[in-house]
Amino acid sequence: MGNMPTVIDPRSIILLAGIMGVIMAVVVFFMRRSYPRSIRGLREWAWAPLVAFASTMLFSARSVLPDLMTVVLANMVLFQACILYYAGSQQFLLGHSRTGGWTLVNLAMGAVLAWFTLVRPDYEARLLVVTLLVTLLFLNHAGLYVRHRGRVFGMGLMTGLLLLQALVAGLRFVSAVFGLAGSDLMEATWIQSLYITMYSLTVLLLSIAAILMATDRVHTEFEYLASRDPLTGVLNRRALLDACEAEARRLARAGSRGLALLMIDVDHFKRINDRFGHQQGDAVLRAAVQRMQEATGQAGVLGRYGGEEFALLLPGADAQAALDHADRLRHAVAAPFESGSPLQPVGPVSVSIGVASVSTQTSVDALFASADAALYRAKAQGRDRVVAAA
Ligand code: GH3
Ligand code: MG
Ligand code: MG
Repeated sequence: MGNMPTVIDPRSIILLAGIMGVIMAVVVFFMRRSYPRSIRGLREWAWAPLVAFASTMLFSARSVLPDLMTVVLANMVLFQACILYYAGSQQFLLGHSRTGGWTLVNLAMGAVLAWFTLVRPDYEARLLVVTLLVTLLFLNHAGLYVRHRGRVFGMGLMTGLLLLQALVAGLRFVSAVFGLAGSDLMEATWIQSLYITMYSLTVLLLSIAAILMATDRVHTEFEYLASRDPLTGVLNRRALLDACEAEARRLARAGSRGLALLMIDVDHFKRINDRFGHQQGDAVLRAAVQRMQEATGQAGVLGRYGGEEFALLLPGADAQAALDHADRLRHAVAAPFESGSPLQPVGPVSVSIGVASVSTQTSVDALFASADAALYRAKAQGRDRVVAAA
């Protein structure tokens, strides 16, 4: 064995990075196929490492192909890969991407690089141009995430990686300004090795961050869908019961804060269905929910208990506040539909409401049972009224 090599051969690292990039691209492509369309950016994020790999192939053909390809084109392709990552982030965070300006910058960069390759060959000048533009692009890209303030791990990782890349490119720029950059990319100076190693890890980690972000978003979307009633958009029965359990636990901990539950049932709803059809019936339910939500605001949690029966959870409400609120809901729902509304022929819609409230620890089952009993009495007493639990 001769001299211990102090740094790994840059070509090996670059090749390894390229292979990792291709693998990550395949993973992201397959994810894109199984993920819902609403998760955007995966196409760009899948292409980016492939394009980066193409650039590394060009870079490593330095002695084989003409400089125009291994220097000018290679840098442009790598820059385009960085733009693609950025476009993916824009798609993911904003739903659309606008990177045409950066592509123009890339073309201009190509012209300048061609000049410093063919007309007046100057590695340092090329390095200055490329590192400056890459720094600016990564800063822009990172800024998108900083403005977005995502709190999930994948976004933190992405932001960190982008800032790190901006820092490394910035350092290369500064080192080039002071003439410390070596004379060739494949020359094994420590700063080049550092840069190439960083680059390799980044290709891998950028894809991982993208996968984490996309997975987190799918999870959030599914969780949302699984907790909502598709017709009215309010909590479904299961999510409503979960919310009640959570409030009951909070009540048990905090003690004094009250908790009220309103069971709301549309009166003679079957008649509305029979006379105007199920579709009108659906529209009546949506309108009633919208009115109840407007009347409630942030004060409570509305859910669909089943059919034309809803439940409203009012954390912190005592018996009187709950009764007052129930009456507000009853009036809000009963307001006539404005003329011209397709619901106008239906006429006024009334609801019956049973109100249960507690100020001490209770089971959710008991709360629902007493609200339900009160609702039953409201129906028995002639409907269109609010009745408090005994
Ligand atoms: P009451 O005043 O005693 O509550 O009478 P009601 O007619 O409102 O009660 P009933 O339980 O007899 O009928 C409820 C009807 O609600 C029966 C069912 O077809 C209808 N319904 C349940 N879910 C939906 C829905 O999602 N859309 C529509 N259009 N109708 C629904
Ligand atoms: Mg009913
Ligand atoms: Mg009912």
